[in-house]
Amino acid sequence: MILTITLNPSVDINYQLDTLHIDDVNRVSTVSKTAGGKGLNVARVLSQLDESVTATGLLGGTIGEYIKNQLNDQEIPERFMPISQESRNCIAVIHDSGKQTEILESGPVISKEEGDNFLNHLETLLDEVAVVTISGSLPKGLPDDYYVKVIKKCKDRNIKVILDTSGSVLKNVMDSKVKPFAIKPNIDELKGLFSDSDFTSEKAIREALQSEKFSGIECVMVSDGSKGSYVKWEENSYKVTIPKVDAVNPVGSGDATVAGLASALENKQSVEEGIKTAMTTGVLNALNEKTGSIDATDFDAIFDQITVEALN
Ligand code: ATP
Repeated sequence: MILTITLNPSVDINYQLDTLHIDDVNRVSTVSKTAGGKGLNVARVLSQLDESVTATGLLGGTIGEYIKNQLNDQEIPERFMPISQESRNCIAVIHDSGKQTEILESGPVISKEEGDNFLNHLETLLDEVAVVTISGSLPKGLPDDYYVKVIKKCKDRNIKVILDTSGSVLKNVMDSKVKPFAIKPNIDELKGLFSDSDFTSEKAIREALQSEKFSGIECVMVSDGSKGSYVKWEENSYKVTIPKVDAVNPVGSGDATVAGLASALENKQSVEEGIKTAMTTGVLNALNEKTGSIDATDFDAIFDQITVEALN
């Protein structure tokens, strides 16, 4: 089974307005509210791939209940741990011919006791699990090395961990002795890890992938939007090319890529098949109107058009 961890989920509220009036009342008739957070996107795509998945993390208050109900409606099994503070809303206002104004709550503050309790809760979920995905930032209150503790619990049981986070939280994991099986930075996050150096040649990218920084991490999948990705898998590096498609909504494609990679690991696919599966789910998400959602019917047609070549 695959377990997805989302420690700071949200209800994503989307308001569509013709014009946003500042310092005035705005009435809105087109509203959508969905369970959000990168890890929930991963869980949804895994469920659409027919994988056996359970979503876990931290949820609180009525917003937490709302997220739980949506997961139930989508038949995604969940084992979230309750917390005392309310989970967050993230609001996106689409207005004035395509402008987007976002208001993002930082979310609940997690107590030390809740942090410790989640590690114990996790222990009770790991029995049947082969792959764990960890997505997104840490909520306030948890220490920067919290994911290191989560990864250690999984590695002690030989469970493969895919980590999709960025900034200081990712740096903290990379500096620790406890490494995940895979990480999925996008190209900008890779540049950030190398002090914003510009990777102008494929040779520079290959050297970055094979650098000491990533030692101990078997798979580094650097996604590059519509251009595909660069991948290090053990001692080899690859350039991955995807077909040109008419993307409808690429937001969440990184999460769909993580879901594809998790599915590939769960099914013990070869390196080449695994890379293609991860890219396919990313492309399928870009073709779907909904964020973090795919139509698996077209899986084979996309998979067959992806090429993986060694990077020299
Ligand atoms: P997000 O944070 O929105 O989840 P990301 O920045 O982590 O995204 P991307 O590099 O944008 O991840 O996308 C991941 C993968 O999804 C790409 O490697 C590619 O396979 C696919 N993808 C993304 N954007 C497009 C697009 N416009 N057309 C086709 N495929 C895409």
